[in-house]
Amino acid sequence: MRRNDREITEGPVIDQVIRSCDCCRLGFPEGGGSYIVPLNFGFTMEEGRRVLYFHGAKEGKKIRLIRELPHVGFEMDTNHKVNEAETACGYSFRFRSIIGQGHVCLVENLDEKRKALQIIMEHYSSKRDWQFPEAAVEQTAVIKLVVTELACKEHL
Ligand SMILES: Cc1cc2nc3c(=O)[nH]c(=O)nc-3n(C[C@H](O)[C@H](O)[C@H](O)COP(=O)(O)OP(=O)(O)OC[C@H]3O[C@@H](n4cnc5c(N)ncnc54)[C@H](O)[C@@H]3O)c2cc1C
Repeated sequence: MRRNDREITEGPVIDQVIRSCDCCRLGFPEGGGSYIVPLNFGFTMEEGRRVLYFHGAKEGKKIRLIRELPHVGFEMDTNHKVNEAETACGYSFRFRSIIGQGHVCLVENLDEKRKALQIIMEHYSSKRDWQFPEAAVEQTAVIKLVVTELACKEHL
Protein backbone atom coordinates (compact mmCIF):
# COMPACT_ATOMS: atom_id res chain seq x y z
CA MET A 1 0.00 0.00 0.00
CA ARG A 2 1.55 3.32 -1.08
CA ARG A 3 0.01 5.21 1.91
CA ASN A 4 0.92 2.62 4.50
CA ASP A 5 0.24 5.18 7.25
CA ARG A 6 -3.42 4.56 6.37
CA GLU A 7 -3.24 0.77 6.58
CA ILE A 8 -5.10 -1.01 9.39
CA THR A 9 -3.23 -4.15 10.41
CA GLU A 10 -4.78 -5.08 13.78
CA GLY A 11 -6.95 -8.19 13.28
CA PRO A 12 -9.78 -7.18 15.64
CA VAL A 13 -10.06 -3.74 13.99
CA ILE A 14 -10.15 -5.35 10.53
CA ASP A 15 -12.96 -7.63 11.76
CA GLN A 16 -14.80 -4.56 13.07
CA VAL A 17 -14.48 -2.88 9.64
CA ILE A 18 -15.88 -6.02 7.94
CA ARG A 19 -18.80 -6.15 10.40
CA SER A 20 -19.66 -2.49 9.76
CA CYS A 21 -19.86 -2.93 5.95
CA ASP A 22 -23.24 -3.75 4.45
CA CYS A 23 -22.24 -4.69 0.91
CA CYS A 24 -19.40 -6.77 -0.48
CA ARG A 25 -18.46 -6.66 -4.16
CA LEU A 26 -17.16 -9.86 -5.70
CA GLY A 27 -14.89 -9.49 -8.73
CA PHE A 28 -14.52 -12.26 -11.29
CA PRO A 29 -12.19 -12.22 -14.28
CA GLU A 30 -14.30 -12.48 -17.41
CA GLY A 31 -12.87 -12.55 -20.90
CA GLY A 32 -10.38 -9.70 -21.05
CA GLY A 33 -12.24 -7.75 -18.36
CA SER A 34 -14.00 -8.39 -15.10
CA TYR A 35 -17.49 -8.93 -13.66
CA ILE A 36 -18.14 -7.12 -10.38
CA VAL A 37 -21.30 -7.95 -8.46
CA PRO A 38 -22.48 -6.28 -5.22
CA LEU A 39 -23.96 -8.59 -2.59
CA ASN A 40 -25.10 -8.59 1.02
CA PHE A 41 -23.03 -10.91 3.17
CA GLY A 42 -22.30 -12.42 6.55
CA PHE A 43 -18.93 -12.79 8.26
CA THR A 44 -17.49 -15.43 10.55
CA MET A 45 -14.22 -17.12 11.51
CA GLU A 46 -13.72 -20.81 10.68
CA GLU A 47 -10.54 -22.67 11.65
CA GLY A 48 -8.74 -19.36 12.09
CA ARG A 49 -9.69 -18.04 8.65
CA ARG A 50 -12.06 -15.25 7.75
CA VAL A 51 -15.10 -16.56 5.88
CA LEU A 52 -17.78 -14.55 4.06
CA TYR A 53 -21.17 -16.04 3.17
CA PHE A 54 -23.53 -14.80 0.46
CA HIS A 55 -26.91 -15.98 -0.76
CA GLY A 56 -29.05 -15.61 -3.84
CA ALA A 57 -30.66 -17.38 -6.76
CA LYS A 58 -29.26 -20.73 -7.86
CA GLU A 59 -28.76 -19.53 -11.41
CA GLY A 60 -27.25 -16.47 -13.06
CA LYS A 61 -23.92 -15.12 -14.10
CA LYS A 62 -22.14 -15.14 -10.72
CA ILE A 63 -23.15 -18.76 -10.11
CA ARG A 64 -21.83 -19.74 -13.54
CA LEU A 65 -18.57 -17.89 -12.89
CA ILE A 66 -18.15 -19.47 -9.43
CA ARG A 67 -18.50 -22.91 -11.02
CA GLU A 68 -15.84 -21.97 -13.58
CA LEU A 69 -13.38 -20.09 -11.34
CA PRO A 70 -12.86 -20.91 -7.67
CA HIS A 71 -10.85 -17.72 -7.03
CA VAL A 72 -12.36 -14.22 -6.60
CA GLY A 73 -11.39 -10.73 -5.57
CA PHE A 74 -13.63 -8.74 -3.22
CA GLU A 75 -14.07 -5.22 -1.92
CA MET A 76 -16.18 -3.59 0.80
CA ASP A 77 -16.24 -0.11 2.34
CA THR A 78 -17.88 1.83 5.15
CA ASN A 79 -17.67 4.98 7.35
CA HIS A 80 -18.28 7.31 4.43
CA LYS A 81 -18.14 11.06 5.00
CA VAL A 82 -17.23 14.03 2.85
CA ASN A 83 -14.63 16.23 4.55
CA GLU A 84 -15.52 19.70 3.29
CA ALA A 85 -12.96 22.46 2.74
CA GLU A 86 -12.63 25.94 1.28
CA THR A 87 -10.78 24.67 -1.80
CA ALA A 88 -11.44 21.80 -4.20
CA CYS A 89 -8.07 20.25 -3.41
CA GLY A 90 -8.87 20.50 0.30
CA TYR A 91 -11.92 18.25 -0.07
CA SER A 92 -11.43 14.62 0.90
CA PHE A 93 -13.50 11.56 1.65
CA ARG A 94 -13.49 9.59 4.85
CA PHE A 95 -13.68 5.80 4.52
CA ARG A 96 -12.63 2.43 5.82
CA SER A 97 -12.27 -0.29 3.20
CA ILE A 98 -11.09 -3.81 2.56
CA ILE A 99 -9.71 -5.29 -0.64
CA GLY A 100 -8.92 -8.99 -0.73
CA GLN A 101 -8.99 -12.32 -2.47
CA GLY A 102 -10.25 -15.76 -1.64
CA HIS A 103 -11.45 -19.17 -2.65
CA VAL A 104 -15.11 -19.38 -3.44
CA CYS A 105 -17.50 -22.34 -3.62
CA LEU A 106 -21.19 -23.20 -3.43
CA VAL A 107 -22.41 -24.72 -0.17
CA GLU A 108 -24.61 -27.77 -0.88
CA ASN A 109 -25.13 -29.33 2.57
CA LEU A 110 -28.48 -28.12 3.96
CA ASP A 111 -27.29 -27.78 7.57
CA GLU A 112 -24.29 -25.76 6.42
CA LYS A 113 -26.57 -23.60 4.29
CA ARG A 114 -28.83 -22.92 7.29
CA LYS A 115 -25.81 -21.97 9.40
CA ALA A 116 -24.59 -19.62 6.65
CA LEU A 117 -28.03 -18.00 6.32
CA GLN A 118 -28.05 -17.40 10.10
CA ILE A 119 -24.66 -15.69 9.79
CA ILE A 120 -25.96 -13.46 6.98
CA MET A 121 -29.11 -12.61 8.96
CA GLU A 122 -27.06 -11.85 12.07
CA HIS A 123 -25.01 -9.34 10.08
CA TYR A 124 -28.12 -7.27 9.35
CA SER A 125 -30.41 -8.03 12.28
CA SER A 126 -28.01 -8.78 15.18
CA LYS A 127 -30.15 -11.90 15.82
CA ARG A 128 -29.09 -15.44 14.98
CA ASP A 129 -32.01 -17.76 15.80
CA TRP A 130 -34.01 -17.31 12.58
CA GLN A 131 -36.09 -20.13 11.14
CA PHE A 132 -35.81 -20.98 7.44
CA PRO A 133 -38.40 -23.17 5.65
CA GLU A 134 -36.79 -26.32 4.22
CA ALA A 135 -37.92 -25.45 0.67
CA ALA A 136 -36.40 -21.96 0.89
CA VAL A 137 -33.05 -23.40 2.01
CA GLU A 138 -33.12 -25.87 -0.86
CA GLN A 139 -34.00 -23.21 -3.43
CA THR A 140 -31.37 -20.72 -2.24
CA ALA A 141 -27.77 -20.74 -3.39
CA VAL A 142 -25.24 -20.14 -0.62
CA ILE A 143 -21.77 -18.99 -1.56
CA LYS A 144 -18.79 -19.44 0.75
CA LEU A 145 -15.69 -17.28 0.36
CA VAL A 146 -12.62 -18.27 2.37
CA VAL A 147 -10.39 -15.20 2.55
CA THR A 148 -6.78 -15.93 1.55
CA GLU A 149 -5.49 -12.36 1.73
CA LEU A 150 -6.76 -8.89 2.43
CA ALA A 151 -5.68 -5.32 3.08
CA CYS A 152 -7.58 -2.78 5.15
CA LYS A 153 -7.27 0.96 4.68
CA GLU A 154 -8.65 3.97 6.54
CA HIS A 155 -8.83 7.58 5.51
CA LEU A 156 -9.96 10.03 8.19
C1 LIG B 1 -26.24 -3.32 -2.31
C2 LIG B 1 -26.70 -4.55 -3.06
C3 LIG B 1 -26.88 -5.74 -2.36
C4 LIG B 1 -27.28 -6.89 -3.04
N1 LIG B 1 -27.39 -8.05 -2.35
C5 LIG B 1 -27.68 -9.19 -3.01
C6 LIG B 1 -27.68 -10.45 -2.34
O1 LIG B 1 -27.45 -10.57 -1.13
N2 LIG B 1 -27.94 -11.56 -3.08
C7 LIG B 1 -28.19 -11.50 -4.42
O2 LIG B 1 -28.41 -12.54 -5.04
N3 LIG B 1 -28.19 -10.33 -5.07
C8 LIG B 1 -27.94 -9.17 -4.40
N4 LIG B 1 -27.89 -7.98 -5.08
C9 LIG B 1 -28.15 -8.01 -6.53
C10 LIG B 1 -26.86 -8.46 -7.23
O3 LIG B 1 -25.98 -7.37 -7.37
C11 LIG B 1 -27.12 -9.07 -8.61
O4 LIG B 1 -27.93 -8.21 -9.37
C12 LIG B 1 -27.81 -10.43 -8.51
O5 LIG B 1 -27.24 -11.24 -7.53
C13 LIG B 1 -27.78 -11.15 -9.85
O6 LIG B 1 -26.45 -11.42 -10.17
P1 LIG B 1 -26.08 -12.41 -11.37
O7 LIG B 1 -24.60 -12.44 -11.50
O8 LIG B 1 -26.79 -13.69 -11.18
O9 LIG B 1 -26.65 -11.57 -12.59
P2 LIG B 1 -27.66 -12.00 -13.74
O10 LIG B 1 -29.05 -11.91 -13.23
O11 LIG B 1 -27.23 -13.30 -14.34
O12 LIG B 1 -27.45 -10.81 -14.76
C14 LIG B 1 -26.24 -10.68 -15.50
C15 LIG B 1 -26.10 -9.30 -16.05
O13 LIG B 1 -27.02 -8.37 -15.48
C16 LIG B 1 -26.36 -7.18 -15.10
N5 LIG B 1 -26.42 -7.04 -13.64
C17 LIG B 1 -26.48 -8.03 -12.72
N6 LIG B 1 -26.53 -7.52 -11.48
C18 LIG B 1 -26.51 -6.19 -11.64
C19 LIG B 1 -26.53 -5.11 -10.70
N7 LIG B 1 -26.56 -5.29 -9.36
N8 LIG B 1 -26.49 -3.86 -11.20
C20 LIG B 1 -26.44 -3.65 -12.52
N9 LIG B 1 -26.41 -4.62 -13.45
C21 LIG B 1 -26.45 -5.88 -12.99
C22 LIG B 1 -24.95 -7.28 -15.60
O14 LIG B 1 -24.87 -6.67 -16.87
C23 LIG B 1 -24.72 -8.74 -15.75
O15 LIG B 1 -23.82 -9.03 -16.79
C24 LIG B 1 -27.53 -6.83 -4.44
C25 LIG B 1 -27.35 -5.63 -5.12
C26 LIG B 1 -26.95 -4.52 -4.45
C27 LIG B 1 -26.75 -3.23 -5.22
